Amino acid sequence: MGRYTESVCRICRREGAKLFLKGTRCYSKKCSFERRPTPPGQHGVRRRKVGEYGLQLREKQKVRRTYGVLERQFRNYFNEAESRPGVTGESLLRSLELRLDNVVYRMGLASSRPQARQLVAHGHFAVNGRATNVPSYRLKPGDRVTVRESHRTRDPFKAAAQNRTSQPPEWLSIEPGNLGASIAALPRRDQMPLDLNEQLVVEYYSR
Ligand code: SF4
Repeated sequence: MGRYTESVCRICRREGAKLFLKGTRCYSKKCSFERRPTPPGQHGVRRRKVGEYGLQLREKQKVRRTYGVLERQFRNYFNEAESRPGVTGESLLRSLELRLDNVVYRMGLASSRPQARQLVAHGHFAVNGRATNVPSYRLKPGDRVTVRESHRTRDPFKAAAQNRTSQPPEWLSIEPGNLGASIAALPRRDQMPLDLNEQLVVEYYSR
């Protein structure tokens, strides 16, 4: 599978927004976007006129990169959302929110989605009691995600068990001890990130 290997801070500068891909660094003065919010590259500081297509493309890339999904997989998410009844954009965001790596991030067990993805890939989690190391695993209401019993003494989980730093969304029911959570309901649009404009993504793919 293709993998992005360049500086992830360039992604934020390209998309013109903080995507919080580097954990604690994103909240510090070292954040590259805070220091240099212009697009990367030699001509980044030039003012460019962005047309309708450009806006749609950038928003699609922003959503895709926020959740760390490659183009083909993202397109599959969109096709699936389009074929379901209901609002396509909301359905797309819901599928992305219910990825296992995103749920681990929302549980407060990782400081960023890329870190959550790595923790899942390293086999630290179980879904409904079964070890799962697939970051894109799609969860559904009633599913239970836990840190595997033998992995609970590892550093990131010891810290998480002692104190939660972020507020979990309402659709996630966190267990006492912070090392497990259940999907209480399907996420509603108002419980998902507000700074993403999913309608532009729908328009991009509907051209
Ligand atoms: Fe983006 Fe975080 Fe890098 Fe800032 S530190 S540019 S928010 S990835």
